[in-house]
Amino acid sequence: MLAIIRRGTDEEKIKFVSDMLNKNGFGVSRFRNDGVDILSVEGETDMLACFDIVERVVGIHEECRFSSRINHPEDTVMEICGAKIGDGGFAFIAGPCSVESREQIIEIAKEVKNAGATMLRGGAFKPRTSPYSFQGIGTEGLEFLSEAKKETGLPTVSEITDIAMLEAYENVDVLQVGARNMQNFELLRELGKTNKHILLKRGFSATVDELLMSAEYIMAGGNMKVILCERGIRTFENSARNTFDVSSIAVLKKKTHLPVIADPSHAAGMASFVKPLTFAACAAGADGAMLEVHNDPMHALCDGAQAVTPDEFESIARISANIRKAISE
Ligand code: PEP
Ligand code: MN
Repeated sequence: MLAIIRRGTDEEKIKFVSDMLNKNGFGVSRFRNDGVDILSVEGETDMLACFDIVERVVGIHEECRFSSRINHPEDTVMEICGAKIGDGGFAFIAGPCSVESREQIIEIAKEVKNAGATMLRGGAFKPRTSPYSFQGIGTEGLEFLSEAKKETGLPTVSEITDIAMLEAYENVDVLQVGARNMQNFELLRELGKTNKHILLKRGFSATVDELLMSAEYIMAGGNMKVILCERGIRTFENSARNTFDVSSIAVLKKKTHLPVIADPSHAAGMASFVKPLTFAACAAGADGAMLEVHNDPMHALCDGAQAVTPDEFESIARISANIRKAISE
């Protein structure tokens, strides 16, 4: 692989990268072409894409051939029924954990749209940890979701748990693969044959590289429309529902050209933590966030404790836009 170094990079920094690669077992030789420094690296590593001094990497990177920035340096920008993601802005997907009724989803859709959301979420098939918890209202929920889209124009996101149900998702714009299914390789392979946008959530025990390999399963089938989502992982810490891995956002943005969003709601588990975690995701460079928003969190059938109200969402969205503006200056 060849690492093309940015013009004007300090000698010291080039030496640092070269030594680092050597220490990690990669042979490195250096040459200059037309005033540009080039490191020739033996073997394959996606470490190269993580160094700021590296402008471009040339060479085929087999493991992450579709998702890696090495083979696709520019950010992928997606447009879903007019809603852009990955274009440098901070997009919001908002809505309840679960679609509960026609009235509930339409009301919340209108409120989140007014508050700044560009996409609507709502689960119809809920993969719950306990078989005795509310499992979602099923296909009817998908119908109510598409009615909410008709009312508001917001594109929709809903989780798919079983490929046999694909037809029922015809009017859903983004198919979500939940944390519990991140390594359901058969499901991923089948989604790779579809033309739908896929929101792939990180499994709570999965590494960043495993998340990228799961994206590869979808992309290798021909579907390049994958959005990645950090939603918190399991660690020894138990003061929040999960540990929000902010680092993964910065790392993913270096390693892949795919849009990266955060789900602070499932990381936090408590509504009061959602705001600071959203700001952290925005500051870390995420392309957007998916938030659980409910107009009556106390009576929500699922995940009420982590749902913010439409008013709270409005303030989170407004301040996030300012954060994004500040860090892009
Ligand atoms: C969800 O987004 O509703 C959900 C179940 O999330 P996760 O798969 O991340 O737990
Ligand atoms: Mn939920």
